[in-house]
Amino acid sequence: MFLRLLSDVRWRTASPRWRSPSSSQHMTTSAAEPPPISLPAQAQVVICGGGIVGTSVAYHLSKLGWKDIVLLEQGRLAAGSTRFCAGIVSTVRHLSIELKMADYSNKLYQQLEQETGIKTGYVKTGSISLAQTQDRLISLKRIASRLSVMGIPCEIMAPKQVAQLHPLINIHDLVGAMYVPEDAVVSSVDVSLALANAASRNGVQIHERTSISHVMVQKGCVTGVETDRGQIECQYFVNCAGQWAYELGLSNEEPVSIPLHGCEHFYLLTRPLKKPLESNTPTIVDLDGRIYIRSWQGGILSGGFEKNPKPIFTEGRNQLEIQNLHEDWDHFEPLLSSLLRRMPGLEALEIMQLVNCPESFTPDMRCIMGESPTVQGYFVLAGMNSAGTSFGGGAGRYLAEWMVNGCPSENVWPLDLKRFGALQSSRTFLRHRVMEVMPLIYDLKVPRWDFQTGRQLRTSPLYDRLDAQGARWMEKHGFERPKYFVPPGKDLLALDQSKTFYKPDWFDIVGSEVKCCKEAVCVIDMSSFTKFEISSTGEQALEVLQYLFSNDLDVPVGHIVHTGMLNEEGGYENDCSIARLNKRSFFMISPTDQQVHCWAWLKKHMPNDSNLLLEDVTWKYTALNLIGPRAVDVLSELSYVPMTPEHFPSLFCKEMSVGYANGIRVMSMTHTGEPGFMLYIPIEYALHVYNELMSVGQKYGIRNAGYYALRSLRIEKFFAFWGQDLDTFTTPLECGREFRVKLDKGTDFIGRDALMQQKQDGVCKRFTMFILEDHDTDLHLWPWWGEPIYRNGHYVGKTTSSAYSYTLDRHVCLGFVQNFDEETREALVVTPDFINRGEYEIDIAGQRFQAKAKLYPFSSLFTQRRRKDEMELSGYHGK
Ligand SMILES: Cc1cc2nc3c(=O)[nH]c(=O)nc-3n(C[C@H](O)[C@H](O)[C@H](O)COP(=O)(O)OP(=O)(O)OC[C@H]3O[C@@H](n4cnc5c(N)ncnc54)[C@H](O)[C@@H]3O)c2cc1C
Repeated sequence: MFLRLLSDVRWRTASPRWRSPSSSQHMTTSAAEPPPISLPAQAQVVICGGGIVGTSVAYHLSKLGWKDIVLLEQGRLAAGSTRFCAGIVSTVRHLSIELKMADYSNKLYQQLEQETGIKTGYVKTGSISLAQTQDRLISLKRIASRLSVMGIPCEIMAPKQVAQLHPLINIHDLVGAMYVPEDAVVSSVDVSLALANAASRNGVQIHERTSISHVMVQKGCVTGVETDRGQIECQYFVNCAGQWAYELGLSNEEPVSIPLHGCEHFYLLTRPLKKPLESNTPTIVDLDGRIYIRSWQGGILSGGFEKNPKPIFTEGRNQLEIQNLHEDWDHFEPLLSSLLRRMPGLEALEIMQLVNCPESFTPDMRCIMGESPTVQGYFVLAGMNSAGTSFGGGAGRYLAEWMVNGCPSENVWPLDLKRFGALQSSRTFLRHRVMEVMPLIYDLKVPRWDFQTGRQLRTSPLYDRLDAQGARWMEKHGFERPKYFVPPGKDLLALDQSKTFYKPDWFDIVGSEVKCCKEAVCVIDMSSFTKFEISSTGEQALEVLQYLFSNDLDVPVGHIVHTGMLNEEGGYENDCSIARLNKRSFFMISPTDQQVHCWAWLKKHMPNDSNLLLEDVTWKYTALNLIGPRAVDVLSELSYVPMTPEHFPSLFCKEMSVGYANGIRVMSMTHTGEPGFMLYIPIEYALHVYNELMSVGQKYGIRNAGYYALRSLRIEKFFAFWGQDLDTFTTPLECGREFRVKLDKGTDFIGRDALMQQKQDGVCKRFTMFILEDHDTDLHLWPWWGEPIYRNGHYVGKTTSSAYSYTLDRHVCLGFVQNFDEETREALVVTPDFINRGEYEIDIAGQRFQAKAKLYPFSSLFTQRRRKDEMELSGYHGK
């Protein structure tokens, strides 16, 4: 049997193709092994890794005008995972940033041959994603809605149509499919070589057979790299080392955590069919069967994502020169069976080889991009979760923009390295998590699914108490948070299995928690929130916060200020609440996943002054949200202090005793607009305070509640949350928060100029609330997030979050409305009038529902409880 991969043979002879005559002086090549050209002593940027990702970064940096770039590759270009890539370029993605990256990659690869003269194997095959179940079809329809509004053609089709598009496919078990005709296949090696060629023509120096041992760091900044061929001084380092990125990150004196882990990844290659399969035959993605199948050299290439992956190199670095590991037919057998079920005609076809190559996976199935929070100038692009070719072009572009312009042209927060901390970098955690992640890539993901591995890593001291009372948990940044509480007597098993795009079976449970929050009092454990203290010996803390935040923080001691931490464009880097504890000390509360990002931002912008102290006190405080009209009674009883608004006004913070415990930071705010308090409790008092609240609260009808109730409450109150509704591209003026911006506070702040300009020009998108009208909660699919919004039949934006409002008995969606010029597609100003005059529809998996758009004063809802019939809202507080 012919056991060598054809691409293997091609690759060995292909290396010199990335050279171009004009740039040969910059490079070495080992085809004829001439003596290596010595490394430069310095460069602006050193990129580690000559796979599709590293070459894409080099290509895009050089396109953006940076020239002094050196790319170092320990082996040969494209000899890592890229070499064994199946070459499928697919835009079928749930996350819109991933969809955009894949779309861009596709377009880039299509023109690369023309640009460089190097054949990239680009063939527009189209892809067909199959659905064996109705739920899978819904999931595909949701993607189809998003693809269409991005202008990517796609079609939901019946099984019979699938059979017409593919000659070999068995359709007997299918309920439908999604066809994306623009999807393609490439030779990933050749794409990398073409990118390298274009980059080297633009001046990038490429050195193969050069291994980086570690990155040199001084005073928190990159200063150079140490290689087996000497040192290079540099300002920027880019870690594109694929599966080696984790180890390389740890090898610095100042380690950089890059949480990814390798797994073996398989596909088989067959000999050509009797009637060779056309090269443009659509790629089949049989998600429920866990396999993909593409045409390859007249035969097929088929791989997949097995249920029981094999993590690899947990204990250390991959030392392999060639990445093809052992064939493991026993392991591949379930995927092979699935393939033969889907294409029974292949039974007699001769198999050429089972390829097995390591690929890196990340804790949340998304790639890792951006600058290290600890080392300035250290950038990362790695952890591609078996989509490095689909994403490589787009991801390389965004990273290059980030380095050159200071930020990418799209919101890449879902991919930002700073969404992780060192806490996700334990080898055991990564090993366990990637074993879950790899199968999840093809698993059906219903709304609000949670990871099962790596759980109970960070917990509140109340975890066991709440668990015993029926808490069901979700995880954020490693922290366990209660979703809802299963009342005694409910069928726990059935609830755990609640997996649906329709009305979930926690509906009534959450409804009763919401009711209790509105009519009595509930406790929600919100300990996962990020908490920082900033203090100084003089005025330094106030000065720095005034510069970093848009609201005025020079408020009397005890006041709480809701404020945004903005970037130069006025976009939200963070949205938080800051309490002034005393003249020189502030307590900042931020979303859970801001722990690393906010810390890095503050550190980057704070002066290096020993009189100014920033401390992460997240772990020191348990946070309980006492929410509801009777919260005031419970707390008054426990503190012997009147807690009514006259004595304890809204947005006020005071340290007081609760029960026996002293020094509890009590704040009159709830994050949902309901009356109540946040209690920040030193952890050793947490159990005592909780027990006291529950005991005294009994007569007021107190009960536990979870984040799902909180979500419903905040969405019906039109409260935007950072990370869901707000991002680095949203300004306070676009989400109706001018009142949190003090342009005239007497000091400059980051983003002020941009906001002044925007105030003058008007906003081009506006945060809007939609109440679904002809939607039946029991019968119809639910909106969750990301649903397209149509105004007068035209696409104007997407929902950012949705919830069922138990007050309105309707679904409420929040999202941004834009106004595009129909001819030029230019974004025009969106006035309240534009919002109010439109007829709206929300597209849920292809079915449109009428919706009423609302813009209404935030503050009036914050202070008043409103009944359903009072929710007819008018006017708007800003332009
Ligand atoms: C079997 C298989 C099938 C796949 N199929 C697809 C597919 O169909 N579609 C798709 O989109 N994706 C697919 N992928 C995923 C895709 O191949 C990868 O995500 C992508 O190739 C990763 O590219 P990379 O540049 O990050 O990593 P790599 O290609 O591994 O490149 C990293 C490079 O860094 C170099 N390096 C590491 N450490 C150092 C050091 N210290 N000094 C110098 N150099 C160093 C390595 O030698 C290597 O060349 C597949 C992957 C596998 C394994």
